Amino acid sequence: MSTPGTGSPVVLVVNAGSSSVKYQLVDPETGESHATGLIERIGLADGVVHHTVGGSTHELVRDIPDHATAIALATEAFAEHGPVLEDVDLLAVGHRVVHGGPDFADPTLITPEVVAAVERLVPLAPLHNPGNLQGIAATQEAFPDVPQVAVFDTAFHQTMPAAASTYAVPRAWRDEHLVRRYGFHGTSHAYVSRRVAELLGRPLAEVHSIVLHLGNGASATAVAGGASVDTSMGLTPLEGLVMGTRPGDLDPGVAGHVGRVSGLSAEEVERALSKESGLLGLTGSADFRGVMARRAEGEEAAVLAFDVVVHRLLRYVGAFTAVLGRVDAIAFTAGVGENNAELRAAVLERLSGLGVLLDPDANATTAGETLITTADSPVAAYVIPTNEEWEIARQAAALVT
Ligand code: ADP
Repeated sequence: MSTPGTGSPVVLVVNAGSSSVKYQLVDPETGESHATGLIERIGLADGVVHHTVGGSTHELVRDIPDHATAIALATEAFAEHGPVLEDVDLLAVGHRVVHGGPDFADPTLITPEVVAAVERLVPLAPLHNPGNLQGIAATQEAFPDVPQVAVFDTAFHQTMPAAASTYAVPRAWRDEHLVRRYGFHGTSHAYVSRRVAELLGRPLAEVHSIVLHLGNGASATAVAGGASVDTSMGLTPLEGLVMGTRPGDLDPGVAGHVGRVSGLSAEEVERALSKESGLLGLTGSADFRGVMARRAEGEEAAVLAFDVVVHRLLRYVGAFTAVLGRVDAIAFTAGVGENNAELRAAVLERLSGLGVLLDPDANATTAGETLITTADSPVAAYVIPTNEEWEIARQAAALVT
C-alpha cells in the first residue's frame, strides 16, 4: 500500500536503554531512513527529545519520568514534524534486544511469553535487557495494533558450533547458570557479512568472512556461508577485543587476584572491567579518535594502547582464519573501523602472509563501502558502514509480511 507519509511501508526501529531511547523510521526494502530520534535523560528532569527529519533536528525539553512518556513524546514529535504516523503504513515496531540467551535464534514476534522469557534472561544482561523491556512495554502501549518484533543481538551467533560456544567450566555453571559464549553485535555482523558477499558478487552460502565491528564496544566474528561460527564476545560483552572501556580477553584469575589484594567486591571489580578498562584504562580516555591524536604527538600511553588494540585484532584474525580454514574477505565496520585508516593499515599490513594485499591509497580515501585491498589480493578487505536499523527493519518486516 502506498502511503502519503513515506510512500512505502515502514518499520519503526526502537533501541531502548535504561535512560535513553533511539528510534528510526526505516523503509525495510531500501533502508531509507524517514526520521531518526534520540530521547535522553529518561527518569530525570530536563529530558530531551531530538527528532530529526529532512536534515533538521527538532528539540523538545521536558520532564521524562519513564519510557512510556518518552515514547508518547516521540509520537508527538512525529505528529508535529512528520512523518505523521497515522498516515504511514507501519508494518511493525522492531526492537533491538541485547540478550536472547539460548532461546532466541531468530527475530521473534513479541507475545507475553516472549516478554517473560526476556525477563528471565535479565541476570545475563542486567544492564541492557531491563531497558529493552521498558521500551517494548511503552511502544506496545503507544501502538497496540502494530506487531512488535524483537531482534536479538545474540541471535546471529546461535549457529556457532558447541565447540566454539562452550566454556570449559563446571557442569553446574553451564547447566544451571547458562554460562556459555553467546556473542553480541549480531545484527551488525549479519548485515555486514551479507554485504561482503554482495560486494564480492558471490552467493552468501559460499563466502567465508571475518567481520570486525570496532566501535565503543568491539567484536570480531567468523562467518561461514552466512552463519556465525565463532565470535569474540562471550557470556557478556566484556570478552574479546580491546574496547573503549572494556579490556576484552583477560586471564580470569585477574578478577580474584585484584579482589583479594585491593579489597574490591566482585561488583566493584566487574564495574572496573566494564567501565574503567580498555582504552580508558590504558590512556585515561575511551575516545579512540582522541587517543589517535595523542599517539600522533608521541604520547607513550597512547602509542602502547594502539599497539595493544592492533595486537589483539591480529590474534583474532589469525585465530578466525584457522577456524574458517579459508578467508575470502575481512570487513571493518562501526565508528573506529569505518573511520580510522591507520588502524586498518596497521592490522592489514601485518597480514600479507595470509594473503592480504593492502591498497594504501584506497584505504586512506574511503567513502562509504570501499574495497581497500588491491585487485589481485587473494583476500579482500572492505570498509562497510554498518546499518543495524536497516537490518532490524528488514528482519521485522520479513517476519510480519
Ligand atoms: P558505539 O559502539 O557507541 O555505537 P561507534 O560505532 O559510534 O560506537 O564508535 C565510537 C568510536 O569511534 C569512538 O571511540 C570514536 O572515537 C571512534 N571514531 C569515530 N570517528 C572516528 C574517526 N574519524 N577516527 C577515529 N575514531 C573515530
